[in-house]
Amino acid sequence: MPEHNGSVDNEKGALVGIGSVERPGRVAVIGVGVLGAAVGWNLSRRGVGVVLIDAARPGEGVTNWSFSWVNASNKTVRRSYFDLNVAGMAAHRELADTIGPDSWWHPSGHLRWTDGPAARAKLLETVELLADWGYGVEVHTGAEVRRRLEPALTIPGEAPVVFYPDEAWVHGRRLVDRLVGLAVAAGAELRSGVAVRDIGTGGDGSVRTVALSDGSRLDVDAVVNAAGPGASGVAGLVGRRLPMRREPGVVARIGCDRVPVGRAMHAPRIEMRPDGVGSMVLHSREIDALIDTGEEPARLAQLLRELAGHVVPELGDSPVMEARVSQRPIPADGFPSVGAVPTVPGYYEAVSHSGITLGPVIGRLLASEIVRGERDELLAEFRPERFPL
Ligand SMILES: Cc1cc2nc3c(=O)[nH]c(=O)nc-3n(C[C@H](O)[C@H](O)[C@H](O)COP(=O)(O)OP(=O)(O)OC[C@H]3O[C@@H](n4cnc5c(N)ncnc54)[C@H](O)[C@@H]3O)c2cc1C
Repeated sequence: MPEHNGSVDNEKGALVGIGSVERPGRVAVIGVGVLGAAVGWNLSRRGVGVVLIDAARPGEGVTNWSFSWVNASNKTVRRSYFDLNVAGMAAHRELADTIGPDSWWHPSGHLRWTDGPAARAKLLETVELLADWGYGVEVHTGAEVRRRLEPALTIPGEAPVVFYPDEAWVHGRRLVDRLVGLAVAAGAELRSGVAVRDIGTGGDGSVRTVALSDGSRLDVDAVVNAAGPGASGVAGLVGRRLPMRREPGVVARIGCDRVPVGRAMHAPRIEMRPDGVGSMVLHSREIDALIDTGEEPARLAQLLRELAGHVVPELGDSPVMEARVSQRPIPADGFPSVGAVPTVPGYYEAVSHSGITLGPVIGRLLASEIVRGERDELLAEFRPERFPL
């Protein structure tokens, strides 16, 4: 029977992972996007005292400006990273069973097709690899997809279209709202609109306090750096260097009376997905490449809408509602940085691109590490120690 109140075993007082504290620990989660919300909820449901701190509003950072595709098919660069993302997909399904899917979880599969012989051959090569690795993948023709799944698309009839039935999209801001609500119901405190300005350490170098932009200082036993694109700055507060890539992306929301597609998809040159009732989200790596030419987000959004109109003609005239350029939170080598930093006891990182896919699994694994000191094998190649102080 799925449990919908989010409360499970209470492990108050069992905080072996954050040192030999005798009272129940208090953990400050710095940044409340999908990663901070997932870690915070997993800690608070275990009875840990949590204070969720966000400089702005929870869920309104990159998490709200993401394509939000839950997948592992695009993560074949390294087997361990693929496996982590597969675990991320499973963690989403478990989360939806546990807290209810509400309006955040959309397990409708994903379509991908491309044009030109070289790109097609590459896509089909990846399909073979994924099938070898046991990943759910089907190849259809454009005509079949139009007939059975997406009648509004203009896909050439004979084009191979790959369907990933186990993939999904997530409404990131709604997921964060839900997790924060459950965490607060389980006893967490939420401080939004205040930034962490300083992290104080004791004589032994372990984390003791956080200082906030409203002038207050909180006593804590541990901090989780989940500050997304701001994570390097937060790491600097404990004298740590967390190198990050600069990789901006632009996402636009367009309005439509009737959302013409039922699932997320990668068409040639444009990615699109529903965003709930009456709007769609658009993204394109090709348009991201124009960000540094100085084009305004509004212009980039028009270009995205034009590309979408080639695939779904009725979107060509849809109004652009909002568009934003965000920085992807990517550690320098492209992989997540998750876990404790042993040289700063009580300091943990949860910093990752593909954070929508990975949020629930990172939240669960990092909470176990903080509460029980368990270092899960799934994270072995993604630990913060690979970036030395
Ligand atoms: C264009 C684009 C497309 C993407 N597509 C996908 C996709 O399809 N699938 C996928 O899985 N991922 C995708 N991602 C990546 C994914 O969106 C991110 O990895 C994820 O949202 C990161 O979540 P987060 O919680 O780390 O960061 P955020 O959501 O940015 O949250 C960090 C929070 O920290 C707060 N903060 C920062 N500094 C401080 C401070 N000093 N004190 C207090 N608070 C602070 C901020 O206010 C913010 O709310 C995409 C990203 C982009 C930009």
